[in-house]
Amino acid sequence: MMLLTRKMIEIRNILQEISTGGGSRSLTRVQLPSIVVIGSQSSGKSSVLEAIVGHEFLPKGNNMVTRRPIELTLINSPDAAAEYGDFPALKLGKITDFAQIQRTLTDLNLAIPDSEAVSDDPIRLNIYSPHVPDLTLIDLPGYIQIAAADQPETLKSKIMALCDKYIAAPNIIVAISAADVDLANSTALRAAKRIDPRGERTIGVITKLDLVDPSRAVELLQNRSYPLQMGYVGVVSKVPSSFASRTSSGLLSRFSGFADGGDIGSAIAKNEEAYFGRHPVLTRALIDADGTGQQQVSLGVINLRNKLMHILERTMAKNLQPACDAIHQELEETTYQFKVEYNDRPLTAESYLAQSLDSFKLSFKEFAGKFGREQVRAMLKSELDQRVLDLLAQRYWNRLDEEPDLSVATIDDTTIKSVLRPVSELPSAPLEDVYWHRQLDACVSSLTKSGVGRTSTTLVSNALSGEMEHLVNSGAFKTHPYVKTIVQDATMEILNSRFYSTADQVENCIKPYKYEVEVEDREWTKSREHAFALLKEELRQCEAAYYKLQRSSGGAKKLSQVEKFVEKSCKGLVKTEDANEIYGFSQALIDKGREGLFLTKRADILRLRMQALKSKQCKSKDSKYYCPEVFLDVVADKLTQTAVLFLNVELLSDFYYHLPRELDTRLGHGLGPEKMESFAKENAKVRRHLELQERKQKLELAAEKIESVIAMQKTRRLQSA
Ligand code: GDP
Repeated sequence: MMLLTRKMIEIRNILQEISTGGGSRSLTRVQLPSIVVIGSQSSGKSSVLEAIVGHEFLPKGNNMVTRRPIELTLINSPDAAAEYGDFPALKLGKITDFAQIQRTLTDLNLAIPDSEAVSDDPIRLNIYSPHVPDLTLIDLPGYIQIAAADQPETLKSKIMALCDKYIAAPNIIVAISAADVDLANSTALRAAKRIDPRGERTIGVITKLDLVDPSRAVELLQNRSYPLQMGYVGVVSKVPSSFASRTSSGLLSRFSGFADGGDIGSAIAKNEEAYFGRHPVLTRALIDADGTGQQQVSLGVINLRNKLMHILERTMAKNLQPACDAIHQELEETTYQFKVEYNDRPLTAESYLAQSLDSFKLSFKEFAGKFGREQVRAMLKSELDQRVLDLLAQRYWNRLDEEPDLSVATIDDTTIKSVLRPVSELPSAPLEDVYWHRQLDACVSSLTKSGVGRTSTTLVSNALSGEMEHLVNSGAFKTHPYVKTIVQDATMEILNSRFYSTADQVENCIKPYKYEVEVEDREWTKSREHAFALLKEELRQCEAAYYKLQRSSGGAKKLSQVEKFVEKSCKGLVKTEDANEIYGFSQALIDKGREGLFLTKRADILRLRMQALKSKQCKSKDSKYYCPEVFLDVVADKLTQTAVLFLNVELLSDFYYHLPRELDTRLGHGLGPEKMESFAKENAKVRRHLELQERKQKLELAAEKIESVIAMQKTRRLQSA
């Protein structure tokens, strides 16, 4: 029977998806009629709507709880196992608990700050039930007389403007007025009269008939000052107190429909029936409403509901062709725009994701080509070079001015540290001084036991995760925070899962070097060159630091003065407390002098060692005690080579193999259509493209549907003719 309304609701929902999808409500021209409910606060507006729906679900409270329009779509679903509501924009799913719907509506309304008080951004709510008719109803904020203290002065006019916008044609106006308030003062009727002066689209609803004398009620329903073509309906929409106490005592946990009793709709209907039965004068008024038979009057919420259904259906039918034309026009424009802007090129979120993923994988592959075994080797070697330099500094480059005390009985590790001998004393003939043997052995031991497994694995892991960070921030995913996290998580998971086993394997394989290191001539020659280069670089840095120090301490002359002073005072030739008086050096300058002295001596040693490395004696691998720099470099090199072998297989190649596959899994079907879509729309350009395309597709669908409805109407007319 009401097939048309249902079809139109479907079309309306399709159109609504377009308008809210992009955030810009751009589809205002296609207007399908709705029923708009207006009334003053406390006129009984909510009670009427809830009687129609059969449930209590609207926000209640005295602090102006309806602040946004509520676009209510009732969908009759005979097979629905349960009644439920859903907020299409919120994606909360089916809500079967109407108290939950009420809470959500309250929250959505109260999200509008007190200072604004109303907003024209509608809340969309669909209610599915076997007990509701197909109907679209829009509930608007109630009119107020004066704004409360915490409400803006302009509130009254803001509400008025909002309602005016909604009650424009082709919408049907349900103007609610309470019987106990003078109808001449009814804001709803006055607003309706202003916008619909001939009373063609307005239904007058008079609530609270029980609060006035029945004869007065008849007068009200025959309202002659504003005759309405669709007439007036009188209701007693208050939930009967007996029902309220039954529900609150928990006897009824879920309301059913009008038909089978038990819900508030039928409770109200029963109550009304009894009331109208007690006052036959009211029923008589129905028969000849205004004596002329022109103004229909009806009574009760059930009649109101049926009336709304028929009127909506009729209005929909009348608006079918204009709506169809509007959709076609909109579609034409969109098609044109899509052709001009995108040359009709189709795009899906899935294809965009696949494209982005391919492009990401390509840059990943490029990186993998550039960061291989050789790069890891260089990185690790430079790390170990640094360790070697530290060890040399610690054990060889300390120059003591005093002769070390060699009277200490046994020379173990700690005593060696405390009795360092100047490197200038390195024995000219190898193997002749046990002190230097111990020094080198200690260095080798420190180096091989310094946790090379862990260090090298950390180094490579950090390099990889750093590079991945760079890749996601610069490549195809740079504008996609969610996918970025997925890539980074996958990276960390793969690297972490391999970390300990790789570190252990590396550590195991370098174990032999902890006991013995054999050197070949070729290795020695290579390391000798490298060690020399390393010292040269160290010297360069040392000199650069010294030069900087000179500049910051007032020139070369000044610095060398301070250095001399510091040296003397070290030897006890100057009493510190006299220092300031004699030389007038500040503490800061003295500190610089100390640093300068250190750098001068360090440079001296480095030059000395470079000379030693160049010497004939250092050419032979047998002089390892004389040339610890070379020998330590050989060890560092061997550690590096061995470590790289495993890092390459266990970590690097493994990562390069697994990451793209992992991303395929996580970003392919693993993402799901919704995430995929929100991913694609993070890119503003893609978003526009997708939205325009979507709009075109939805308009095409709407056009197709509305045409079939028109065709259906035509056949019906033909059949009935
Ligand atoms: P709204 O502010 O316009 O939504 O008004 P409500 O529906 O919340 O109703 C305001 C008050 O009037 C509530 O206390 C209702 O119980 C009461 N009410 C609503 N309809 C009737 C009615 O027909 N008769 C009586 N006596 N009270 C009613």
